[in-house]
Amino acid sequence: MRVSQLLNPTLREVPAEAEVVSHQLMLRAGFIRKAAAGIYTYLPLGWKVIRKIEQIIREEMDVKGGQEVMLPIMQPAELWKESGRWDVYGPEMFRLKDRHNREFCLGPTHEEIITDLVRSEVRSYKQLPLLLYQIQNKYRDERRPRFGLMRGREFIMKDLYSFDKDLPGLLESYDKMYKAYERIFTRCGLTFRAVEADAGAIGGTGGTHEFMVLADSGEAAVVFCKECDYAANVEKAECLPRLVPTDDSLKVMNGEIHTPGTKTIDQVANILKINKTSLIKTMVYKGDDKYFVVLVRGDREINEIKVNNSLGPFVNLRMAQPEEVLSLLKCEPGFVGPIGIDNDIVIAADLEVAEMESLVCGANKKDYHLVNVKCGQDFVPTKTLDLRMVVTGEPCLKCKGKLQEARGIEVGQVFNLGKKYSESLKATYLDDKGHEQYCLMGCYGIGVSRTMAAAIEQNYDNNGIIWPMPIAPYHCIIVPVSLKDEEVVSTAEALYKELTELGVETVLDDRDERAGVKFKDSDLVGYPLRITIGKKTLAEGKVELNNRRTGEAQLVTAEDACALVKAIVDEALK
Ligand code: ATP
Ligand code: MG
Repeated sequence: MRVSQLLNPTLREVPAEAEVVSHQLMLRAGFIRKAAAGIYTYLPLGWKVIRKIEQIIREEMDVKGGQEVMLPIMQPAELWKESGRWDVYGPEMFRLKDRHNREFCLGPTHEEIITDLVRSEVRSYKQLPLLLYQIQNKYRDERRPRFGLMRGREFIMKDLYSFDKDLPGLLESYDKMYKAYERIFTRCGLTFRAVEADAGAIGGTGGTHEFMVLADSGEAAVVFCKECDYAANVEKAECLPRLVPTDDSLKVMNGEIHTPGTKTIDQVANILKINKTSLIKTMVYKGDDKYFVVLVRGDREINEIKVNNSLGPFVNLRMAQPEEVLSLLKCEPGFVGPIGIDNDIVIAADLEVAEMESLVCGANKKDYHLVNVKCGQDFVPTKTLDLRMVVTGEPCLKCKGKLQEARGIEVGQVFNLGKKYSESLKATYLDDKGHEQYCLMGCYGIGVSRTMAAAIEQNYDNNGIIWPMPIAPYHCIIVPVSLKDEEVVSTAEALYKELTELGVETVLDDRDERAGVKFKDSDLVGYPLRITIGKKTLAEGKVELNNRRTGEAQLVTAEDACALVKAIVDEALK
């Protein structure tokens, strides 16, 4: 490809709307343009990267026995009503009606459609296992579409669905996909980690892992153990109670204590001159139309995912407004506590609260707290379970090593779904004895467009993108420094022809531009290799070969340049 012909509008300025590096660089390097919030056009170089990621994914899916299909984007509401998800998916789902007023959605995911296919076409255990996948646009009306391709409303996903006849089969399919994902992200040149995760709206009870590209800009927080292989999304990471001795000063206090004007845990701790670890937080939540109370230790954060999983699931879960708390408990939020709450209101206590020797809580009376309260005696929670966020430095559940925190970009997730969809949609097969059985399912997604963004978050410098060779839009760019010198031009043309014939994906910057402009663009776009042809070096029969990642430059003869480039590319793609 000749740069003069390439639709590659690069920008010098950083676009104001782009907050993260990958978004900025994709706009500046002319890879994408915005059509609407969270909806993008891919320009030729951007699309090439997408196609390469897709190709790697296809190869790895096919090796594992995956069969590619193409499912409809527009899906009838009936199927979603059958699975029970039409009403629970919420405002993230784009819904529409046809001219006959029939309801549809734009697929945010495809469990319903694929299960419908399999229940119609699969009769016997002999047809299983089945691994079906597609690479296609998904539609989710995200609350906050942002960061360019990172969180779009229209985005590209690979989704594979596995159908097995029994649990060992399902576990094998899951393991195949897990391993395929490791290979895919490794081949894309990414540093990643698989972490235990929460199943969210996709559901299933059999466990799930997220594949996280580690980057400071990542929206997800993960914890991992330095000593063993344990790693989990903080949403999921299980916590054991960790006991802290009660403040001595509390032992001499009793009953109701006046704590006027205290609105926060810190203020209560200050006024009583105690640690936050001796206090509990009493938070009122509203899950759909039901109020309930959650208790955690004063220094802890409530993990709303755990709350939703153990007390819900709810379509809408939120903290109650102050007016709601006031009308429900007849007390301002800052002073509510678990003692004396109506029996019909569920009280869920974190494991630590139940084990605290003695605690301080709101008195359900304005400006007062109660001290020396004991869970189990002074009040009895309806449920006691793990409801808090993990923190750095806690012991690992598996080996007692210390947990560390990191940020990650979720590029893929694998789910063990079990019978969740096969039961609701009645996807069955006949086993070898002729008995009808439910299929066991798994689903496995990769955010293709998000993977492109994540690759940039991990591979850039001040000058632009540094593509890993396997997903670079082109492997090499040839830059003739001046078009005025005939020998420079003819050498550039000859190298371009030869490299192309060798199968190296090459562009020739044949624009009549200053060399500085060409170098800037070439660095910005992130071509892994650059051959620069200038009059001076050519006089000695040499051209310059630059490596974008290492910054290394070497002078080689024009003849050697092609072989060298070919060897570097082959090595990187091996
Ligand atoms: P998130 O928690 O980031 O919203 P998710 O868990 O809802 O994602 P999945 O249903 O697991 O997403 O979808 C599979 C993959 O699709 C994700 O791992 C992610 O890489 C990608 N993905 C999900 N939502 C988006 C989005 N809005 N834009 C781009 N990629 C996305
Ligand atoms: Mg996910």
